Amino acid sequence: MTDLTTLTLAAALDGLKSKQFSSVELTEAFNAAIRKARVLNAFVVETPEKALEMARASDARRAKGKAGRLDGAPLGIKDLYCTKGVRTTACSGILGEFTPTYESTVTQNLWDEGAVMLGKLNMDEFAMGSSNETSHFGNVINPWRRKGDNQGLTPGGSSGGSASSVAANLCLAATASDTGGSIRQPASFTGTVGIKPTYGRASRYGMVAFASSLDQAGPIARTVEDSAILLEVMCSHDPKDSTSLNIKTPNWRGDVRKGVKGMKIGIPKEYRIDGLSDEIDALWQQGIKWLKEAGAEIIDISLPHTKYALPAYYIVAPAEASSNLARYDGMRYGARVEGNNLTQTYEGTRASGFGKEVQRRLMIGTYVLSSGYYDAYYLRAQKVRTKIFQDFVSAFETCDAILTPACPSPAFAFGEKSGDPVEMYLNDVFTVTANLAGLPGIAVPAGLSASGLPLGLQVIGKALDEAACFRVGGALEDAAGFVAKPEKWW
Ligand code: GLN
Repeated sequence: MTDLTTLTLAAALDGLKSKQFSSVELTEAFNAAIRKARVLNAFVVETPEKALEMARASDARRAKGKAGRLDGAPLGIKDLYCTKGVRTTACSGILGEFTPTYESTVTQNLWDEGAVMLGKLNMDEFAMGSSNETSHFGNVINPWRRKGDNQGLTPGGSSGGSASSVAANLCLAATASDTGGSIRQPASFTGTVGIKPTYGRASRYGMVAFASSLDQAGPIARTVEDSAILLEVMCSHDPKDSTSLNIKTPNWRGDVRKGVKGMKIGIPKEYRIDGLSDEIDALWQQGIKWLKEAGAEIIDISLPHTKYALPAYYIVAPAEASSNLARYDGMRYGARVEGNNLTQTYEGTRASGFGKEVQRRLMIGTYVLSSGYYDAYYLRAQKVRTKIFQDFVSAFETCDAILTPACPSPAFAFGEKSGDPVEMYLNDVFTVTANLAGLPGIAVPAGLSASGLPLGLQVIGKALDEAACFRVGGALEDAAGFVAKPEKWW
């Protein structure tokens, strides 16, 4: 029998349905793979017994002909999602051993359809980072390596555990989250597919908050079709999240192989940033060519405020984070450092519980919201955000979807960018715009760098038009025929 851990989610669900294997067999294969891959540090909590229990229940349901849409499929869950009775810390020291008494809506949706939880996945602390180096539990390692080089590379961030575990066949697919690129960038660094839906599609209830007006749930998976299968289940209307949209979730799986004939694809000239590497430019040109050959019409578009997106994001996101993270004061959750009085306890807890990058963001956020600076920074950034949104609205009058590179570079090595926060922030240059405008964006692996690492292309769609992302993403996947896998060294 083929190694069950290498199956796509679609193939695994077919195999379960046709009784080629049971969920218990599939889950045992993943539990074993996870045990052997601890060097990757992708999981911060392994739940093998719980997984087997869920798998047994799934097999029993299937035997009775009552299987849900994901029944028996073993998944990894980013540690940002509250899971009842299973430690959830968003990989921050300040949450200590926090174990939620409730389940996030997104994960509940997965369990309601029969999915199996393998464990909680490593991530940057509170999802702040692009390399997984800010995790309290140490960084995740990318299963990919440069050709002829054993140096450890980052899987990207913040959903590095999700991306690494999917790329290394430690789960069929994983949940992730995206505030400024945290689904799309790690997907691009690991040869996997990641999609962030339109803001409001997926409930944020029970997701540890980073920047509430930007945060969205989404999957990282092996194929565009798998990402559609998972996203359909993750999205739902939820009265427990006031920003959740009361609309039906479409059948996106059906869009993946529809092709792009007659679609108009916009190419934004402002994404040709200074210093864009030849390699990334060539990949982008290749993507344009593929879509043209598949029958799409290519249109030059302009998104004039693009250059302000990154600075605006790095004001809005820290501002919201400073407000959201005020709740971690040692009183209600997790760890506490006892001082001589209340103020000392607050200060001691926050100084020792938060890592350096989180502290930096909280200081920036508090500063830009403080009286006297609010208008100059926060309000201004909000205005820029509106301009960026309007740029997209005008561009979408002439095109159906936008094609850009996903990231400015392939995966980098640990320490390569962590010394300079601004250099790290530049990773998000192509992804933050979709968050600021609330639009859906998908990253699809499209080729290999000269050093043998995966590179991704990004497709941005109109609000609520994930269908376009799936159609274009599917066409790119077909054309690229990306089948490369990391050589197994772990
Ligand atoms: N890298 C970005 C940041 O650090 C995005 C993170 C995210 O999307 N969660 O803010």
